[in-house]
Amino acid sequence: MREKEMRELFPILSAWYTENKRDLPWRRTKDPYCIWVSEIMLQQTRVEAVKAYYTRFLDALPTVRSLAEAKEETILKLWEGLGYYSRVRNMQTAAKEIVEEYAGHLPADYEKLRKLKGIGPYTAGAISSIAFDLPYAAIDGNVLRVLSRIFADSRDITEEATKKYWKEEVEAALTRENAAVINQGWMEIGALVCLPNGEPKCGICPFRERCAAYQKGCAALYPVKAEKKARTVENLQVVFLTDGRRIAIRKRGKGLLANLWELPNGSADQALPVLLQEWNILDGEITPMRHRKHIFTHVQWEMDCSFVLTNSTENTPFIWLEPDKITEEYALPSAFRAVWKEGLKKLV
Ligand code: SF4
Repeated sequence: MREKEMRELFPILSAWYTENKRDLPWRRTKDPYCIWVSEIMLQQTRVEAVKAYYTRFLDALPTVRSLAEAKEETILKLWEGLGYYSRVRNMQTAAKEIVEEYAGHLPADYEKLRKLKGIGPYTAGAISSIAFDLPYAAIDGNVLRVLSRIFADSRDITEEATKKYWKEEVEAALTRENAAVINQGWMEIGALVCLPNGEPKCGICPFRERCAAYQKGCAALYPVKAEKKARTVENLQVVFLTDGRRIAIRKRGKGLLANLWELPNGSADQALPVLLQEWNILDGEITPMRHRKHIFTHVQWEMDCSFVLTNSTENTPFIWLEPDKITEEYALPSAFRAVWKEGLKKLV
């Protein structure tokens, strides 16, 4: 165990965090619901982008109960553009359980938090420590990177066993008094100083005297990560389909972006006129639009895009709505945002 070394690092981290932490909205509260919302939003999303979403979400749904009772369309709209929509759906499922089992209050218990939908070891550790001062670690990619470098540790950080190893190492030295500051300190130093992609700012790092990777001059070699599998590329035709006033959208089925609203699209293997016929679009003036790309975690969409002006709005698999209505009430995933904006400009 590295408990002694870890204990020696904590006061350095704590002092640095107190001096350098950013003033972020979710750092001004200990309300477990607010901490939960922020932690879920911050997964795979930049801090700057999250700020506005966080405020808007909590203004609209200020309590666990309000989230539990909200319509699905409302929560998706509040999440629109953040991506990974299963995050907010899982939050709502968990909120319903919190209302039923815990009278609408998040339990101050790591194991009970872990059992809620969408709350993994990282989020449970973050809520437990930040909101309830419980000595649980919150180990994410940032923290793994910093620890791997400080200890010049070659464990593969994509392995669950590695996450578990560091969680136990950090927890061995955590106390109720230091847990909130230490967990946030690791995250913050990973975000501001010990940056990814071989660009750590060692010159301003409080750990440089003790950091094994820095002392050996090999920070770029850490963390060790298994090669990612290549993404699957899907080629699509995406159509901004309009009758000049209204725009066609439809609800997706199962799979990627399940049940979200989308612009009409199909495989790029089919010629656009064939696709239009399949949708019962029997006339149409086609104008090519810019090719777009959207990257998901495991899939990449290459989108050939077209603007199609038609009179055929009957018996199509779409609903036809005015743009303001769609903007106000329907959540379009980010993948379609650029096409949507370009199409609107052509419509004017
Ligand atoms: S000294 Fe450099 S590599 Fe080591 S923890 Fe600090 S920023 Fe990261």
